[in-house]
Amino acid sequence: MVPAFPDSRSVILTGAASPRGIGRATAHYLAERGWSIGIIDIDDAAAKAVAQEIAEQYGVTAAGAGANVAREQEVRAAFDSLEAELPQLVALVNLAGVSSPVPYLEVTAEEWDRVMGVNMNGVHYATRRAVESMVGNGLGRVVNLSSVSAQRGGGTFSKTVYSAAKAGVIGFTRSVARELGGAGITVNAVSPGPIDTDIMGGTLTEERKTAMAADGVLPRIGTPRDIAAAISYLISEDAGFVTGQTLNVDGGLYMH
Ligand code: NAD
Repeated sequence: MVPAFPDSRSVILTGAASPRGIGRATAHYLAERGWSIGIIDIDDAAAKAVAQEIAEQYGVTAAGAGANVAREQEVRAAFDSLEAELPQLVALVNLAGVSSPVPYLEVTAEEWDRVMGVNMNGVHYATRRAVESMVGNGLGRVVNLSSVSAQRGGGTFSKTVYSAAKAGVIGFTRSVARELGGAGITVNAVSPGPIDTDIMGGTLTEERKTAMAADGVLPRIGTPRDIAAAISYLISEDAGFVTGQTLNVDGGLYMH
């Protein structure tokens, strides 16, 4: 039997420091629903500032730690410091990511390693460290951010390296879900379509938003809150029978 969720529980989010990003919006959304919040971001000062703003606004425990998710030792040190300050770690959300608009014929070995380092290796390092704690409790939730770019083969701002890394995240999600289901841990992916953040080369103009929405079924691009709500469901106690899945939150851009 998987234990019930503890009254006091934490979620750690990577990549939750950028002001208009999905991660910060998700941290707010989850704190409002009673989660204690840990934030890991390459921007140490911003991670701590977002944690403080959340603690003040919702009265939950929140802490931030700086780490480059592409470096395993930094990730492990950040988890150690956050876990010392927070209640039981129940959930991890891997949001840290970088875009890569480089055409395939111009991709250098450095660009390949940069993007894989953050978007794929980073997901592994944080997941590996988080599930070591979760296995001890017999309870855990992991959500990884993929992208419609993985499923459609690019076609968004980013190109092949990003698409390959985000496709890797889906295979990783399924395999870890299979290996750790018996330990009470669910692992799922969320695959967003275009979301109104600054990751696609800066703040989107109305013209770009309209052009991006034209490909989908719904007449708009997504908001960080659209993704936060999907993440909130997948880490909830009631989502305990959902694992190894990719939830597309993309306005109908990709149907299969
Ligand atoms: P964003 O740029 O606002 O946020 C990314 C965050 O990751 C930032 O806080 C940044 O500081 C952090 N980060 C970057 N490199 C890091 C590193 N090496 N170590 C630690 N932190 C690092 O972007 P966003 O749009 O909020 O994206 C969040 C996630 O959603 C990403 O994984 C992205 O690929 C994915 N996604 C976004 C969209 C979209 O349209 N915005 C679509 C599909 C998937």
